Amino acid sequence: MALKSHYEIAIPADGKGYTHRLCPDCSIKFGIRSVDKDFPDTIHCPYCNKSGRLPDFNVPEQFDYATQEGLRQIKYDVMKELQNSLARGLRGSKNVKFKPARIRYDAQPVLVQSEIPTDMVCSSCESLYEIYGIASRCPFCGTEDVKILDANLAIIEKELDTDRGLRQIYNDVVIAFQNLCRFYASKDKKINFQNISLSEAYFRDKQGIEILEGLDSQNLQDMRVVFEKRHIEQHNGGIIDAKYTANLGLDSTTQGQKVTYLKSELQSALKALTAVSGNLRTKLKP
Ligand SMILES: [Zn+2]
Ligand SMILES: [Zn+2]
Repeated sequence: MALKSHYEIAIPADGKGYTHRLCPDCSIKFGIRSVDKDFPDTIHCPYCNKSGRLPDFNVPEQFDYATQEGLRQIKYDVMKELQNSLARGLRGSKNVKFKPARIRYDAQPVLVQSEIPTDMVCSSCESLYEIYGIASRCPFCGTEDVKILDANLAIIEKELDTDRGLRQIYNDVVIAFQNLCRFYASKDKKINFQNISLSEAYFRDKQGIEILEGLDSQNLQDMRVVFEKRHIEQHNGGIIDAKYTANLGLDSTTQGQKVTYLKSELQSALKALTAVSGNLRTKLKP
């Protein structure tokens, strides 16, 4: 066997099967996964939309891993080649007998990779990727998607025109907000992250950041309404009470009425949620 002129090292995937990438511009990680096709030559950062060649998005730990793994394979091949040439050279010799020992592979290096929480399926090209947050562009084709648990914006647009479907997504928005805050709060799981004001205060006091900074005021108001409507739905059978009108600064005329669900309100609230997600991601770099 002759020594190879180049070695190809596969980068191990994370526990969910994604290969991690790091944006050279915004320095935030994401994961991409290919099922039956190769990764494209050019990919996009899901957060800042920077485009570049696939190797431009390598993670430093992956270089270290590939270097170590390459050296390990070269060492094995060199020793094997040395043994072979010794055996060839001494073949037929009467005085020296060469008995090759077994060459052991060194233990494979380990690539340590942290968890990336949100799995996405692109609504346009159906590629799989994972991100920090709830909204992003597809690294493969650049399409923008919002993920709320298992419902993304494309599904909301296409299928959920019913009141029941909308009500479900009002709930999903609150749970997505809660999960997002919990992820970035890491240790403090006991905070009530179903409450916007308490969440805002928590991140201000404990982490020194403003999660509502830069939000459009209408989007923020609509997100507050979504949270209040969801609360009323869960705890008061969907009937508006005095607490609801007080929390939202409304007069009492709607008290006793049933809450209504509006797609436009939901989409506006989603924009606020997306902005909160962006604030957490950029202010508390994972
Ligand atoms: Zn980026
Ligand atoms: Zn795509």
